[in-house]
Amino acid sequence: AAKQTGRNRYNLFDMDLEEAMLTRHSGLENIRQALENKEFVLFYQPKINMATNEVVGSEALIRWQHPTRGLLSPADFLPLIENHPLSVMVGEWVIETALKQLSIWRGMGLNIPVSVNIGARQLQEDEFEAHLTKALEAHRDVPSHCLELEVLESSALEDMNKISRVMRACCALGVRFLLDDFGTGHSSLTHLRRLPADVIKIDQSFVRDMLEDSEDLAIVKGVIALAVTLKLEIIAEGVETKAHGDMLISLGCTLAQGYGIARPMPEDKLPNWVKNWHTNPAWTA
Ligand code: C2E
Ligand code: MG
Ligand code: MG
Ligand code: MG
Repeated sequence: AAKQTGRNRYNLFDMDLEEAMLTRHSGLENIRQALENKEFVLFYQPKINMATNEVVGSEALIRWQHPTRGLLSPADFLPLIENHPLSVMVGEWVIETALKQLSIWRGMGLNIPVSVNIGARQLQEDEFEAHLTKALEAHRDVPSHCLELEVLESSALEDMNKISRVMRACCALGVRFLLDDFGTGHSSLTHLRRLPADVIKIDQSFVRDMLEDSEDLAIVKGVIALAVTLKLEIIAEGVETKAHGDMLISLGCTLAQGYGIARPMPEDKLPNWVKNWHTNPAWTA
């Protein structure tokens, strides 16, 4: 009987696996189609200096304008292509599109940097540096320091030698690096010192709860102290209210990004947002 059960289980597992593979296959095919049909778009979320009210940059965040399902978030489709060559193609599209947008905005007199998110796998691709070089060369009007790369703190733990080598090569091209979701990756000081990062982004989970949770507040303070020690810039993500902003300012972190300031928006909305930002009642009241 035990054998029988085992066999049934094996067959069941087999079917599940087949089904899973079919789903994945059609999902991948849909994403390939979406790239071809230009259904991906970048939204941009502003970053500000809360002390001066200056807009210091924006982060490009991918969306899928799906023909029937509406606007999809990265969480809806990026996991499907994780570790698949398609993620490299999407990643290249993101860099090229952000550079194109930087060029357009510069032409309009809007000179703020744009950061893009880089997956760990993307960064370790042999062709990453070559592609970045080519993309920058295609937009010589955009100074390379205007392109910033957000890398998850946790990806720094993958292949340290490789990651730091690629980061150094990209830094030599002039781009800047931000360590994203900082505080969740458990990287050591030793790790951090080897990475040529310019900015630390405090993860939004700590920022969101720091007003109620003393442990999260302690982490925020610790990350800010670390940035000071390592002489890195620091920016807080997930700043949802003015109270969060005020707390961060009092702790010495003046750069911020979050729904309290602005939600990610289509590219054509950003220039006006920048122009009108100083009158944002939710923030300046
Ligand atoms: P992330 O890079 O840490 O980006 C921050 C995420 O938090 C964004 O979600 C943003 O819309 C959201 N957010 C910003 N401010 C607030 C706030 O005040 N409160 C809350 N609750 N959320 C806030 P989104 O756009 O859904 O992106 C999620 C993640 O997907 C990103 O996290 C990033 O890791 C990844 N991602 C987005 N675009 C790309 C991309 O082009 N390439 C890659 N590889 N990953 C991307
Ligand atoms: Mg990011
Ligand atoms: Mg983040
Ligand atoms: Mg995140």
